[in-house]
Amino acid sequence: MLPVNEAEAIIYSLVQPLDSQVDTEIIDLPAASGRILAKPITSHLDFPHWDNSAMDGYAVRYEDVKNSNLENPTVLQIIEEIPAGYQPKSVLQLGQAARIFTGAIIPTGADTIVMQEVTHREENRVLIKAAPKQGEFIRKKASYYQAGDILLPAGIVINAPEIAVLAAAQCNQLCVYRKLKVAILSTGDELVTVDKTLQPGQIVDSNNYALTALVQHLGAEAISYGIVPDNEEVLKATIEQAISKPLGGADIVISSGGVSVGEYDYVEKILESLDGKFHIRSVAMKPGKPLTVAAFPNSKLYFGLPGNPVSALITFWRFVQPAIKKLSGLADSWQAAFIKAKASSELRSDGKRETYIWGKLELVDGEYEFVVPGGSQVSGNLINLAQTNGLAVLPTGTKLISQGKEVRVLIVR
Ligand code: AMP
Ligand code: MG
Repeated sequence: MLPVNEAEAIIYSLVQPLDSQVDTEIIDLPAASGRILAKPITSHLDFPHWDNSAMDGYAVRYEDVKNSNLENPTVLQIIEEIPAGYQPKSVLQLGQAARIFTGAIIPTGADTIVMQEVTHREENRVLIKAAPKQGEFIRKKASYYQAGDILLPAGIVINAPEIAVLAAAQCNQLCVYRKLKVAILSTGDELVTVDKTLQPGQIVDSNNYALTALVQHLGAEAISYGIVPDNEEVLKATIEQAISKPLGGADIVISSGGVSVGEYDYVEKILESLDGKFHIRSVAMKPGKPLTVAAFPNSKLYFGLPGNPVSALITFWRFVQPAIKKLSGLADSWQAAFIKAKASSELRSDGKRETYIWGKLELVDGEYEFVVPGGSQVSGNLINLAQTNGLAVLPTGTKLISQGKEVRVLIVR
């Protein structure tokens, strides 16, 4: 049995991210949400695109107004009004000002903006009642970003903030990593799809639905191989199809069930017969001990998750999720993420294996508390999984974390 952190390190080392030259596609900006940039982005535009006003006020020549004060306001002639979106027509001369609005282009000759609040308008004239600082309230062209520089680096996820940047920069087409394909199969004679009437002994293949949702949530495409009976030949043929290129076409194969020590647990034997190299056969964690990880000569990764729905989800969150994120081209932040929270009730383990307790992170007065749901924490019970967004971790050797004490929580979802 491997300690969890060793298993994690092995999995991370097995994952070779997608190739930024080959594994890419060009997409339009409106379709970019959640995708990962494969190439850095540059823009042909400066930001700001031109010198413009940061205030509603008056564009002036600093020389004209530098001695202004309440007792001796400077009087300037207003020669033009420049709303946002218009090109100024005139050139400011001695004693002149232009009425200007936020975002509008600074007219030639002006070097400073006086904000409206320290002025007084009298028809075509404006009184400047306080001296501005030279250059004040002018957003200088290219002061935020210079055309040709790197605007966004490769390896980041495109979300609303990035979409705003890309749209403003007129980057309408992007090179992103292709979507990963993840094959999902469930093993077990007892399993049926959600729509079937249950015969004695049957249960619904809930893992398939849950794993599909998890994979899709990560932006990958789930390829379902459905339910495979506990029949060595059929299971072997299905796994072979899933791992082979181009037939299966999956980057990662995930199965659930059939990795324990029972008579009908064929997965390990089949992986061996298909030249899979075993990297993990069991992990010192609870639940999740039977986790099996193998790599095939064509570099495809195989995750054999335990069948119990709780164990399948927990091993997915702990190991498969970071692997999918790394493989998908994310440059960083793909590792499992933990936070510290206050245990809202005592947390117990037998101390023999690293123990994962599922529950809910709740914000109480701005601090995270970890709340254990009602019902039993056994891997056969999936009913109290609902609302899980964190897994409290009790390290090997820790039998108790008292109520109110700090606990490390893996953030899931
Ligand atoms: P196994 O690892 O195949 O021995 O399965 C362990 C437990 O998980 C058994 O009670 C199975 O019935 C259950 N199980 C296995 N696969 C699934 C699945 N896809 N969906 C729901 N429960 C499952
Ligand atoms: Mg089984």
